[in-house]
Amino acid sequence: MLGQGLQSKPDSMVLSAKNEQTKHTEKIFVTKSFLPPLEEYNAYVAKIFENGQLTNQGPLVGELEKKLSAYLGVEHFQFVTNGTVAIQIALKALGIEDGEVITTPFSYVATTSSILWERCKPVFVDIEPDNFTIDVNKIEEKITPKTRAIMPVHVFGYACDVEGIQKIADKYNLKVIYDAAHAFASVYKGRSLVSYGDISTCSFHATKLYHTIEGGACIIKDKAVSEKLNLIKRFGHNADEHIRLGINAKQSEFNAAMGLANFPYLSQIIDKRKILSNLYDKLLSGYVQRPKQQENLLYNYAYYPVVFKDENQLLKVFKTLNEHNIFPRRYFYPSLNKLPYLDDYEACPISEDISSRIACLPLYVDLKESEAERICALIIESLK
Ligand SMILES: *Cc1c(COP(=O)(O)O)cnc(C)c1O
Repeated sequence: MLGQGLQSKPDSMVLSAKNEQTKHTEKIFVTKSFLPPLEEYNAYVAKIFENGQLTNQGPLVGELEKKLSAYLGVEHFQFVTNGTVAIQIALKALGIEDGEVITTPFSYVATTSSILWERCKPVFVDIEPDNFTIDVNKIEEKITPKTRAIMPVHVFGYACDVEGIQKIADKYNLKVIYDAAHAFASVYKGRSLVSYGDISTCSFHATKLYHTIEGGACIIKDKAVSEKLNLIKRFGHNADEHIRLGINAKQSEFNAAMGLANFPYLSQIIDKRKILSNLYDKLLSGYVQRPKQQENLLYNYAYYPVVFKDENQLLKVFKTLNEHNIFPRRYFYPSLNKLPYLDDYEACPISEDISSRIACLPLYVDLKESEAERICALIIESLK
């Protein structure tokens, strides 16, 4: 069955409660990488030392690709060096080497910079205020004869209107590439959120929900495109036969080892984040604005964004938290349509407004409930 392993219960594994004695002087950042028990990572590293293959589609990379594609219920899954190169080679594999790419201004800079790096022009469509994803009703007015693709982002793990976007893409013969860097383990209408579009790209960077230290993936709908991408990621050649322009986007066995060691803990990682998110919800209710719950989404709890009344209120809360060694982050600021190296400025009032007053609170496995409670108390105190 497709996506059978999604968010299923763990096999009797227990997360170790690290840093039990965290003192208030210890800094709390927005995230902290999950680390598996060292001996479990070492067991994979021992395999690498035994067979001597360090990279170039080794056995651990193969094993991880198989595990993750089964977990996601997808057919064509390729593990690559990072989530940024994943976007760049997705554009290349779909033959988008110039023209305009419609995208969202509310994301990490890599969404826009990848489009620019591939010598395409990002065309910004404003977001909807409920979940901060691209506003599907404003896409068509930005389509021109030069438009080649739509690149939305499932920001914070919330689902874009995938059906509405596909309808527009079909009507105008456009490709759809989802920057799904936040969407791993979110399930939409019974399907992995990363299975939508012509290609979805993931990031497995150390700061993400599930990580391979550095890493990323492309999930590809079409077999021929997947084969093309596979060639592109290893310099475009098979032995002495040079077929097309390529790059090096291959992953190493050590990164696969971290992915394999982390994978059994995934559902527990999500469970713990869910507990913390529910606690924040309970304590902060009425004090901050939150994204709307999406009906058909099994959420992955990748982030905990809160929207303040205005930027002044956000800055006041940050000042208080920083004084107590707590460092939330302004995700995402500034709105990407305001990047200084763009050719021209297109106004996106909703994204610009949300960007000015949104932040993500600390959310990670090692964060204690008492710490989350302290963070909430400080926020409430500074809002008074
Ligand atoms: C993290 C991130 C990326 C880049 O991924 P890397 O693996 O760090 O290169 C791209 N897009 C979004 C939305 C991200 O959050």
